[in-house]
Amino acid sequence: MRKGAISRDDILKTLQEYDELGGSAFLDLYGFKDARDYLLLHDGKEYASKAVAGVAHKHQHGRPLTYDEFSGGVGHAVDWLKREGFTIGASRSPKWTRDELILVCDVVARNDWRWLDSDDPRVEELSKLLQLLGAYPEDQRASTYRNCNGVARKTADIATRHPRYEKKPTKGGKLDVEVLHDFLTRPVEMAAAAQLLRNGLAAGTLLPVPADEETDDDEEASAPEGRVLYARHRRRERNKALRKKKIASVFKNGGTLACETCGFDFEAVYGERGKGYVECHHVVPLHEAGESTTKLSDLALICSNCHRMIHRTAPWPTPAELRKLITSQTLH
Ligand SMILES: [Zn+2]
Ligand SMILES: [Zn+2]
Repeated sequence: MRKGAISRDDILKTLQEYDELGGSAFLDLYGFKDARDYLLLHDGKEYASKAVAGVAHKHQHGRPLTYDEFSGGVGHAVDWLKREGFTIGASRSPKWTRDELILVCDVVARNDWRWLDSDDPRVEELSKLLQLLGAYPEDQRASTYRNCNGVARKTADIATRHPRYEKKPTKGGKLDVEVLHDFLTRPVEMAAAAQLLRNGLAAGTLLPVPADEETDDDEEASAPEGRVLYARHRRRERNKALRKKKIASVFKNGGTLACETCGFDFEAVYGERGKGYVECHHVVPLHEAGESTTKLSDLALICSNCHRMIHRTAPWPTPAELRKLITSQTLH
């Protein structure tokens, strides 16, 4: 058989079979592995390109090509598929990030927890917003990146996980359930966070924070409001000019740089090396911290340990709450 002699029709038939069997059963049946590098993008869906190219051979040549008979890359499978007018994307539809799911969940919540269709104007708006959010850099986006089909499917993933939904949920991710849970337990806060995200993205005042697999889960989990708002929180507390002003105002009022929570004083413990050192924590909750400028009273001076403990898990305690916790611990 001449390798690569496949028609558009052969490929379409193969895609149909792929859909009917489901990706993993299709791959198992023909002995192919899942695609990492090249995906065939068609009709809002993605397919392992090498498997499709190989299996398509059976329609004109009596049998599919086996995995070892040809290469999946450029010059082979990729070219055969492109030649027939198909799009090959370089990356699988990337994982949904918490920020993205917050925006989707918010729309589903406002739709009384029902999913939306792909031709719904709210889905179209959401799709545009997700492009703006830019959880993934442009060069990694397949052409289907967060398109209306994908977004509508995600609204179904969330709606069918709602406790009120009695039938079998669609196949979603673990994070869908977590974000839904956050919306159900803290509806006002999460809706406010979503609103801040929308406004900030539309106005260009919130910067995209690209998804990063290196980030430890701890940090992500500590901010149910997502990485974009969390990043702004961190930027505000690391703002040198603000910190200077805060410290000056504390000194002016006769205070010291001792931790407002536990009393730790860097200079007292580390001498000259610790002099002038303390961290700032922005006390306004993420869902409330909008565009208004930071007031000095929004900042608390705390030691690095206490700061870590505040951010460790949500909801974040205020410095006063953490102080209470420390006191109750020492009483034990
Ligand atoms: Zn402390
Ligand atoms: Zn902080």
